[in-house]
Amino acid sequence: MIVMMVAGGKEQEEIEKELAMAEEYIPLTYAEYEEGLSRGKLLGLRCLSCGKITCHPMPVCQWCGSRTMERVELSGEGELLTFTVIRVAPEGFEAPYIPCLVRAIEGPILIGRLELAQGDKEASQALIGKRVKMSGTYTHEGDKFSGGAHLCPVFKIMER
Ligand SMILES: [Zn+2]
Repeated sequence: MIVMMVAGGKEQEEIEKELAMAEEYIPLTYAEYEEGLSRGKLLGLRCLSCGKITCHPMPVCQWCGSRTMERVELSGEGELLTFTVIRVAPEGFEAPYIPCLVRAIEGPILIGRLELAQGDKEASQALIGKRVKMSGTYTHEGDKFSGGAHLCPVFKIMER
């Protein structure tokens, strides 16, 4: 094994050991988050320092930067903040589709896709502020720009 000295005088082996130990304390990995989505569950992290929710999962609280968090399940409900309609899809996607931002009732802003309510043929600005709920997931199979397949939540308008 090649031993390298890096910043702070730590040996590579020592740093790798610290990272391996730290991984045991990550309460929700991105892979586990996507696995949850595939079962219809929206998982996030509750910060044990500030109490706020981080979603999708990150190594630190998105609000205060703390590393002490616990896994929680979100309701999947929130408010539609904004969206756009993609009519000419990037490579690897099929148009039309509607990327959106949703503020979960638990606090974090989620990125997903919007599914229109039955009977609605077109999205309009009147939808902004409406109540939405996670209704499923979309799987992007990946293309030359991404590292493989990924899932994202799909939200459905709950009120007309
Ligand atoms: Zn926090």
